[in-house]
Amino acid sequence: MKSNSRQQVSQRKRRGQRRFRLTALLIMCMAAIPLLLAAQWWRGGRAVASKEIGAITSELAVPTPIVSPVAPPALQIDLQKVKPNEVGRIPIVMYHDIGASSNYDSLGLNISRDKFKRQLQAMKDAGWYPITMRSVALGDIDVPAGKTPVVITFDDGRATTFRTLPDGRVDPNCAVAIFEEFSRRNPEFPFRATFYLIGTSVPFHQKETAAWKVKYLIDRGHEIGNHSNTHRYMDQNAGGWVSAASIQREVAEAIRRIRAYDVRATMDTYCVPGGGYPKNRSLWRYLKEGSEGGTKYKNLVVLKAWGGPSRSPFHISYDPMVIDRIGVMGSYLESQISLLKAGIELQPYISDGDPDKVSVPRSFEKYVNKAALGRRVLRVYDLPGSKSETDPVPEPATSN
Ligand SMILES: [Zn+2]
Repeated sequence: MKSNSRQQVSQRKRRGQRRFRLTALLIMCMAAIPLLLAAQWWRGGRAVASKEIGAITSELAVPTPIVSPVAPPALQIDLQKVKPNEVGRIPIVMYHDIGASSNYDSLGLNISRDKFKRQLQAMKDAGWYPITMRSVALGDIDVPAGKTPVVITFDDGRATTFRTLPDGRVDPNCAVAIFEEFSRRNPEFPFRATFYLIGTSVPFHQKETAAWKVKYLIDRGHEIGNHSNTHRYMDQNAGGWVSAASIQREVAEAIRRIRAYDVRATMDTYCVPGGGYPKNRSLWRYLKEGSEGGTKYKNLVVLKAWGGPSRSPFHISYDPMVIDRIGVMGSYLESQISLLKAGIELQPYISDGDPDKVSVPRSFEKYVNKAALGRRVLRVYDLPGSKSETDPVPEPATSN
């Protein structure tokens, strides 16, 4: 009995020691993560670090959620110089065809490649910085200090947006290649866009390379958004086709069809064809949320086809159900660029460079929707001479 219990004690001891060694090893591994992350931070800035967090953690194969992320060193900016205003306007630009033919139309649905290049240059020169619609919708606006976020959208998955040549190369004359090349020469204007695809139409009209293209875009951090299944206009209810069931089918079937090209297609920002919303407002909730054929969905935002610069997601009048977009007809975009830059009527969103803080001059504090801040910290600062927005009284949001 005695020697048995001694054995048990020493077994327990050994087990205890083993447990201790394992725990120590685990702690060391966990301690290594912040160090590695900190090293990443110093080496290449937050963008690189946040991208690589996943890779580093999985390399070490440590059980995940115990690790608390390292707080990056506080970002110091001169508020009086940068003048951040994160309830200012965010431009969302809408493209269709680029150089489909020389018949350029007055609606901006087909513009020349030269015009597209000039616009990329003008947006870059204005200090605009491309992010996806999804980032805006989530309030994840990671843009360098002093820059204005811009969302560049391409509708319909058109052939001129992304084309491959018979030898498999990307056509240097398609919009994707032009934009990618522009960003290569201008790293301060990254290659990032949102592509609104239609369920029943082959993305970018080339069957053989469609899946490759969708993957190519997702691999590079672009967003694949939902532009309905059939592209029928919901403000035109011929034959009474618009119903709770048909709207849910339009959203859900498009998700299924586009995800068949790449399951990573997020498809949770919804762009209504032709900007046409159902006339019966009680049906709008199915644009936001629904379920059909076993596919449940929740759209973060619904986008219109026309309008001026959009609201910041932190502004009290931001309405996720009706997001404006700037068309590229005539010189409309060019005039919006200069108006926003001058800040005469509308104030642009100007980033503080810190996605975890929402900075606004004191005269704009009344426009902040505190409920939309989430984990972000509000920073209000005094900016002598700063005007309040010309908006008199914020209009109520059209939906909740
Ligand atoms: Zn469309």
